[in-house]
Amino acid sequence: MPDFGEPFIGDNAKETTRLPYTKEVREKTDHLYERVASVIPEIEWPAHAPYIAAINDLKNEMNAVILAHNYMTPEIFNCVGDFAGDSLQLAKEAAKTDADIIVQAGVHFMAETSKILCPEKTVLIPDLRAGCSLASSITGADVRLLKQKYPGAPVVTYVNTTADVKAETDICCTSSNAVEVVEYAAKEWGSDTVLFLPDQYLAKNVAAMTDVKIVTWAGACEVHERFTAEDIREIREGRPGVIVLAHPECPPGVLAEADFAGSTSGMSNYVKENQPDHVVLITECSMSDNVALENPNVNFVRPCNLCPHMKRITLPKILSSLQNREFEVTIPADIIEKARRPIERMIDLPLKRQSMYNHQHAPEVAAIEARV
Ligand code: SF4
Repeated sequence: MPDFGEPFIGDNAKETTRLPYTKEVREKTDHLYERVASVIPEIEWPAHAPYIAAINDLKNEMNAVILAHNYMTPEIFNCVGDFAGDSLQLAKEAAKTDADIIVQAGVHFMAETSKILCPEKTVLIPDLRAGCSLASSITGADVRLLKQKYPGAPVVTYVNTTADVKAETDICCTSSNAVEVVEYAAKEWGSDTVLFLPDQYLAKNVAAMTDVKIVTWAGACEVHERFTAEDIREIREGRPGVIVLAHPECPPGVLAEADFAGSTSGMSNYVKENQPDHVVLITECSMSDNVALENPNVNFVRPCNLCPHMKRITLPKILSSLQNREFEVTIPADIIEKARRPIERMIDLPLKRQSMYNHQHAPEVAAIEARV
């Protein structure tokens, strides 16, 4: 199990010599630059393009695909990613792909999810230290103790958890389906209480949208928990009329100040459908760049927080990962077996819409924090 607790310094990927920006590279990548020209300065492109060309060549040779999360930088998200989206979308693509190799351009729990859904495939993560503060906040042993304390309450865990935690879970959720999954779990398991782990803020934001009693864990996303209601008020003062979209991993006070709250795909869809003049996405920094590329008529205000774990994934590390087939994600077969069920239950749920989080009209938040 990698240690995700260490500070973000240095680089554990093999050093890769800077590749030359040749005529052949230009021919292979000029059309890709057109996609990202509005967010990547021309002067930076010769540093990215040789890696993009080499990665795309190698992917074809090796029958590999790259799953790119919405928080990847634009040169990864738009120029080497075969499938892009939020955790749920990437999990679904992992389950469907017939590639031999999956490279996860995201963090470790996402690569584990791909391995759980595709145990026969080689799953690579370009940097083993790409962790997540939520995933590292809770263990399988913690969940076993919680289940003893709350017998009969179904366990709903956010996909931002390790395979060990998923193996103790009844059904997984993402921020795009959390409210519906909690209500389904309460009904299916016949309980008025659901253990919703490990994000205390997402739990509180879900609790504001349902009558199901929620017991949560004291985990938090280190990126979203830093936003405050005061930040939103300052943004509105500086840019009157701006539309504020917030991720539900933010504290409830932030959502109460926002115009809309939803998952990364929910925010992306909101911008596409509503085309606001000015918008701010209260989430990880790269998200605004990636959504801006698809919405050239929308102006993005960009106060944001970087996820140091997501930013460990770079083009040189992706190339090194393919060249050296590193770092392979492995999970014991019995854990894969147990962890697959809650993910498949989530994927198989016939959910008709994305979860809505609306604090302007919600009753008092009543999530209970629990520590065992
Ligand atoms: S943004 Fe937050 S939830 Fe996502 S990987 Fe980073 S720390 Fe984890």
